[in-house]
Amino acid sequence: MTIAEDRGTVANYIPELAKIEVGQFALAVALPSGEVFSAGASDVPFSIQSISKVFTLAIALGRLGDQLWSRVGREPSGLAFNSILQLEQENGIPRNPFVNAGALVVTDAILSGHKPREVLGDLLRFIRAAAEDEDIHINEIVARSEQATSHRNIALAEFMAAMGNMRNPTALTIGTYVHQCAVEMTTAQLARAGRFLLGAAGCPRLVSPARVRRINALMMMCGHYDGSGEFAYRVGLPGKSGVGGGILAIAPGKASIAVWSPGLNAQGNSKLGTEAIEALTKATGWSVFG
Ligand code: GLU
Repeated sequence: MTIAEDRGTVANYIPELAKIEVGQFALAVALPSGEVFSAGASDVPFSIQSISKVFTLAIALGRLGDQLWSRVGREPSGLAFNSILQLEQENGIPRNPFVNAGALVVTDAILSGHKPREVLGDLLRFIRAAAEDEDIHINEIVARSEQATSHRNIALAEFMAAMGNMRNPTALTIGTYVHQCAVEMTTAQLARAGRFLLGAAGCPRLVSPARVRRINALMMMCGHYDGSGEFAYRVGLPGKSGVGGGILAIAPGKASIAVWSPGLNAQGNSKLGTEAIEALTKATGWSVFG
């Protein structure tokens, strides 16, 4: 396949992310054993942004179980990651845990009874255990940069509060959310962290096999927002993107793949990253669709 010359555009609504050099690229593949194969700048940390929603969802399901589904749905949205359109029509219940509104509900759910600092500590512990690597941190400058420009997410949270779907002060939920999005990881660390979703021997077992299947199903249907159908069609793996340009994709039982290239396509997903994972699954035959 030919790799497009056009690398897309970096996220410009978060000032710190707008400064990132668009030409960067890294790919890492982690096997169930933890062995990692990588290419490009796989030791450069980047902002995982919405990929953090996979980890917070796993934590929320661990704490609340199926009760979580009374507050957030499991259907693709077909709309942009930060859209507010469906929320009013659907009474403040977001379509899924990966659109921003849904992720805010998930963060709000794990915040109840805890301080933001404790929730972020639990999140880092989860990610570090998944990656078997203690050197994973939150970039405070990125968190503050997003916090200062969070008008849309504040609007989503306030609307859901008006509809009775927020349990904590929205400022606390937003503050926690922008910090979870500001976790930085290298592609090598992210690929290793994704192994808890492989459902294979040798991987960190942080959630039950039934939950692994369900998180993967949600990633397949909703992990790339209104580009989820296209990602399933082209790549054929459950995946989760972030506006920092990262993508985590899971080849169940076989490998956890992380790619990073900060230029985004129109749906806010890494342009070159998608092309690279597409080329990889084509070469390996790892699509779940055969
Ligand atoms: N922190 C970003 C936001 O809430 C995450 C979006 C994304 O990565 O898709 O806008």
